[in-house]
Amino acid sequence: MLTSAPPDAASPQIATRRPDAPHEAVDPRLDSLTRLARSHFGVATALITRLDAGRQWLCSSAGVPAGAIAGDLPLAGHALPGDGMLVVPDTRADERLRHHPLLSDHPWMRFYAGCALLAADGRTIGVLALLDDQPRALDAQQREFLRDLARLAAASVESDRAAARLQADAAALRERERRMALAIAGSGTGIWDRNVQTGEIHYSTGWKAILGYADDEIGNRIEDSYLRLHPDDLAYVQATIQAHLQGETESYAVEHRIRCKDGSYKWISSRGKVVSRDRAGQPLRMIGTTTDITARHALAERLQQSVDLLTNLTNEVPGLVFQYQRLPTGESLFSYASAGIQAIYEVTPAQVAGSDAAINALIHPDDLPAYQASLDASAASLTPWELEYRVQLPRQGLRWRHGAAQPRRQEDGSTLWHGFITDVTERKRIEAELLEFATTDFLTQLPNRRQLMTQIEAELARMQRSAGHCAAVLMCDLDHFKSINDRWGHATGDLALRHFADILREQLRKSDMAGRVGGEEFAVVLSGAGLAEAMIFARRVQQRLAQRPLRCGEQRIDMTLSIGIALLSAGDASVDAALSRSDLALYRAKESGRNRIECL
Ligand code: GH3
Ligand code: MG
Ligand code: MG
Repeated sequence: MLTSAPPDAASPQIATRRPDAPHEAVDPRLDSLTRLARSHFGVATALITRLDAGRQWLCSSAGVPAGAIAGDLPLAGHALPGDGMLVVPDTRADERLRHHPLLSDHPWMRFYAGCALLAADGRTIGVLALLDDQPRALDAQQREFLRDLARLAAASVESDRAAARLQADAAALRERERRMALAIAGSGTGIWDRNVQTGEIHYSTGWKAILGYADDEIGNRIEDSYLRLHPDDLAYVQATIQAHLQGETESYAVEHRIRCKDGSYKWISSRGKVVSRDRAGQPLRMIGTTTDITARHALAERLQQSVDLLTNLTNEVPGLVFQYQRLPTGESLFSYASAGIQAIYEVTPAQVAGSDAAINALIHPDDLPAYQASLDASAASLTPWELEYRVQLPRQGLRWRHGAAQPRRQEDGSTLWHGFITDVTERKRIEAELLEFATTDFLTQLPNRRQLMTQIEAELARMQRSAGHCAAVLMCDLDHFKSINDRWGHATGDLALRHFADILREQLRKSDMAGRVGGEEFAVVLSGAGLAEAMIFARRVQQRLAQRPLRCGEQRIDMTLSIGIALLSAGDASVDAALSRSDLALYRAKESGRNRIECL
């Protein structure tokens, strides 16, 4: 409101702002206008207020001391009639204002003339007001002049507002630019801007810094930029950019080497995009970024070297190095298989990456249950998997494999094994050969004494396990064999031993076993046989031997055989007990004249 302080015509004109008024510069043009209005109309006071968002504040006045006008002004712009002008020649005589308390408080406010400051869009943005302590009148010409002054004031306010907005926008833009420049500088990225038509290219300070150049040390010709490219990278970089210039790509990104000021090369990632083309589609301007990726590249290279080393190692070791996975769904697959899978299973890593079905089909059917059970057990107890099993391969045929792997449980419940599989066919063959050496008599190819003892032990164990099972042990000794050697020579004696071994072998059932237990001594164990069956067997052997003498050229060598039979007994403490009984029976057969059978 206007305060009660009387106007002081002698005081200097003031231009004051309310403390909470929007921040805007004091406009000397408005002060000129209020001064002009005051002197032209000869009133005590001329003032300009601004209106915005329902608030009104004084922005220039002439003729009122600084402290006199500080509150809300009652005759605000919104109180003005439709034509934007209100002239009250005598406030005391005016029906609208006569009883207004302000007038009694401010006796000097007898005359009021206000004209709205209108913005281009018609909004009232302020008021130019004339105040005086004497009643006055304004003729049409004066009213028009007041309107003209109000228009000038409005234009001034508007241009001030526009300038302020522009200034604020420019400040915000500068701030955004500053932040972006900082972000780009901090990211190790440089920017460039290329005029495609002239071949001129501008680099940011950050771009030059990546290559170790100061701002003024680098030319702006595109040709020079290609000279800095590593010769090995030039062709594909140019091809990539060319494709983009021709509109084949939305934007482009290439990684390549670039020569620095010191002659060294750096790896950079260069991205670019044409931002304007002419009507014919020819590129005019292209901008882009360059990022130093030397460190990332070195890291990637080291990583690749590690991967290569690992791959080489796993591929070079004989056999298959693998990672095998069993999913909670029950599916199994080889998530990694070294090149050795070709030799081990005759498949490719890709063939087993999704499922191990191809491998299960290669495992020998007799070994497949054990193979699967061993993996089940390893997965269940997370104990190392180890197994020897056979595979039947299309090219290699029947082969032995040895597998070993360590299982671990994954978070999703699947089991993951890391391990290797090797070819053990040769070892298996040698093992089998050694076993044969250890268990077979070389001359007759019959089981040796040790093997036969093992068999008798097994029979004894079976008998002790299951009542009703029986077995007989026969001890056979060729009669007067020494004289064969003496007469025909040792080699013929060997032939005679082989001849007898053949006859003996022919009489055996699958469950029986005959072995050479001494020089010309043989033992036979007949599974499930009682004395009667053993006697029949013994007689048959004697008969066959009698019927088939050894033929040596023209010579015929007859042999006879003494046999002692004893039955295995569940009460036998060891196989020796049974053997010594059959030995005793044999002794009796010899004593009784040879070519005989005795039982005990
Ligand atoms: P008996 O009727 O009492 O059994 O008389 P025998 O001559 O068969 O028995 P003896 O124990 O006196 O002799 C066994 C002979 O068997 C002596 C040995 O030279 C011979 N002999 C042992 N091993 C071999 C062999 O591997 N090859 C040959 N040719 N002869 C062997
Ligand atoms: Mg003998
Ligand atoms: Mg003997």
